[in-house]
Amino acid sequence: MLNDLVLVFNCGSSSIKFSILDPINYKKYLFGIVERLYLSEAYVTWCINNNTQIKILGNNITHHQALKCIIEIIFTKYDDLVSKIKYIGHRVVHGGNELIQSVIIDDTIIQKIQKNSVFAPLHNPMNILGIQASMQYFPDLKEKNVAVLDTSFYHFMPECAYLYAIPYKLYKKYHIRRYGAHGISHFYVSKKASRLLNISFNHLNIITCHLGGGASITAIRNGVCIDTSMGLTPLEGLVMGTRSGDIDPSVVFFMHDVLGKSIADIQNILTNESGIFGLMQGLTSDFRYVEQKYYSSLQAYRTMNVFCYRLSKYISAYTAALYGKLDAIVFTGGIGENSALMRALTLSKLEFLGFKIDNNLNYNLDNKKSRFINKENTTPIIVIPTNEELVIAQETMQLFL
Ligand code: ADP
Repeated sequence: MLNDLVLVFNCGSSSIKFSILDPINYKKYLFGIVERLYLSEAYVTWCINNNTQIKILGNNITHHQALKCIIEIIFTKYDDLVSKIKYIGHRVVHGGNELIQSVIIDDTIIQKIQKNSVFAPLHNPMNILGIQASMQYFPDLKEKNVAVLDTSFYHFMPECAYLYAIPYKLYKKYHIRRYGAHGISHFYVSKKASRLLNISFNHLNIITCHLGGGASITAIRNGVCIDTSMGLTPLEGLVMGTRSGDIDPSVVFFMHDVLGKSIADIQNILTNESGIFGLMQGLTSDFRYVEQKYYSSLQAYRTMNVFCYRLSKYISAYTAALYGKLDAIVFTGGIGENSALMRALTLSKLEFLGFKIDNNLNYNLDNKKSRFINKENTTPIIVIPTNEELVIAQETMQLFL
């Protein structure tokens, strides 16, 4: 006899993850992912009872098409699970200053998520598509949809970390500040690390790196996030799939004043044409390619080096923000979990901080499990597969208990 189940949607910028799970006994009945949205040869893989299936969807597949296909798979193949789904949880990237904790979704909440799209143009609109598809295809559960926010985790960041050095009234009046993103993933992996290290969460000092299509890093002191690389929007910080991360704001003025680009053009360049994609001269934003070609292509070599150098600078800075008192560093996300070369290149620059990677462990991972990859008696370096879906399902059910 199955417990009540939660259907979870995690609509990312380049992928959509979906799961049906029981948040009480942590059991995932079905999970899947649509990958390579808007690229060639998008496909969906899903796994049930350790049996993985794959379906090619075609080229330039949109979020709309992918969501329809996911719902069809669920309804046609897993009818027995559908009747047990009682709640639907959605990852929502940006809650702004109004949505600070998980909330049951109604029209007002959708409007607030929409309003915050200005801060997360690659994500909030996709999150809304997931919500609308759920409400359309599961009309009986219309009032059982919950938004779980990526920004909640950063609510207690100190002022010195969230304030920008711009006129203070812009913060007071327009709430321009650092909000962070990927909070659900950073929360999950830090909790998991606390269990693996056997250190209680409220004593845990840790750096977590979520490196996927989007990428961010957080410093957590005594279980509270004290700094993170994403800012007002998920554009700031590390090098990402198609986003620039940190740049001098003057680059914007130059593109506008000298190159005659409009603000919309510049936003598009920095959001959709930069990062790995920009450094790879528009060839790909797929990190697998960068890793494969690192030794044979100058572009890939350059891209990897910019990516790792930026990351290593942040790790050093956050080690300082934690006063050097670090229980572990965690890698997660599609790149963080899978790219041994990236982990090796990044940490090879940081041996002076005590990070000593064990190459044998690093290159021989079972990528579905959490693993320590440091040399003995050095700072723990842990690869932890993220599980945002579990956090979302738990938060979702919690609101109805
Ligand atoms: P999203 O932020 O869209 O959820 P993911 O966390 O799924 O993204 O990460 C997507 C990124 O992970 C892509 O750049 C992809 O190339 C990279 N990736 C996935 N698998 C591997 C792998 N085996 N080796 C290197 N990179 C990988």
